[in-house]
Amino acid sequence: MEDRVISMKKEGFGVNVLILGHRCHRCKHAWVPRDISEIPEICPKCKSPYWKKPKTRFTKKELKKMNKKKESKK
Ligand SMILES: [Zn+2]
Repeated sequence: MEDRVISMKKEGFGVNVLILGHRCHRCKHAWVPRDISEIPEICPKCKSPYWKKPKTRFTKKELKKMNKKKESKK
């Protein structure tokens, strides 16, 4: 399932609105396109061409951070 249906409390009207739009995996920026069938090549905010895909590669620093989080949960 694609992350097309997203809730954007900030940009919608009222409480807990559900808007059809896109959200960037990199910078978490969410936006509503003029045409939902039109999928942009890059994120309008961070300009990443990988905004459609979840991050799969991490830097050593990020991995360390994640491992620390796991350990602290125990
Ligand atoms: Zn982005």
